[in-house]
Amino acid sequence: MAVYVGLDIGGTKFMVASADESGHLLARTLESTPIGLEDGLNLLDLMIHQVAGREKILGMGAAVGGPLDWQTGVVSPLHQPQWREVPLKARMEARYNCPFWVDVDTNVAAFGEYFKGGFQADRMLYMTLSTGIGGGFLIDGKIYRGANGAHPEVGHQSIPYRCMNPAGLWCDCGVPDCLEALVSGTGIRRIYGKPAEELNAEEWSEVGYNLGQGLRNIAAIYTPDLIVLGGGVATGAGDKLLLPAQKTMEENLRLVPAPMLRLSKLGYDTALMGALVIAQHGIH
Ligand SMILES: [Zn+2]
Repeated sequence: MAVYVGLDIGGTKFMVASADESGHLLARTLESTPIGLEDGLNLLDLMIHQVAGREKILGMGAAVGGPLDWQTGVVSPLHQPQWREVPLKARMEARYNCPFWVDVDTNVAAFGEYFKGGFQADRMLYMTLSTGIGGGFLIDGKIYRGANGAHPEVGHQSIPYRCMNPAGLWCDCGVPDCLEALVSGTGIRRIYGKPAEELNAEEWSEVGYNLGQGLRNIAAIYTPDLIVLGGGVATGAGDKLLLPAQKTMEENLRLVPAPMLRLSKLGYDTALMGALVIAQHGIH
């Protein structure tokens, strides 16, 4: 038998899985992310061996935090400080003698939702709300890329917001009024002094309002058919976040149709499932 291998290389955990030639999941494994680069690469080799055994590997796909160059496969994930200018594609292709594809985690997650989550809209935005905020835009199943391959940053847009504790408002990018500063896990801790899972109804309605304003901007400019929300903050909150966000988005969109708004069905597996998709089909 021959297998495909997908890797979700995250700042807190690594997940690796294998699938057969029909794309059916065969095995998976999860470990905490080591701090060192060499430790990390060695752990990935071990995890690949755990899921692939001695089977021939036909292709590999990986989701990694940006910034990275998907064509050269050189990665420098922001939240893994010892991983800088790592030639991941070259290393893996030499070691495993098969094609290796890598892209920004939110792009790979968008592939996961599109091909494995049943969300096949022509214009689809996948948006993750976790520690930070990121997105991946698929047009007819292909990733939309910006100038010089730049990755669009949907979380770093200015919005009209409500905030009961504006003193806590600060975005890691250096601008005070980003969407990410208001609705990401990090932003929620700064503003409300507690993790997202402890927010009360009034606080969720404020976060939902702010998210809705961000979605409204995206919808007005890009007119997607569908926005899929994933990441721990969104999937943990569910309708407490989705309903006020949808209401605010729809109330403020006057000239374009409101996109469908859905929660991820794959949860924490979106990027891993997307990695298996690109292992098999590549990125084009
Ligand atoms: Zn920002």
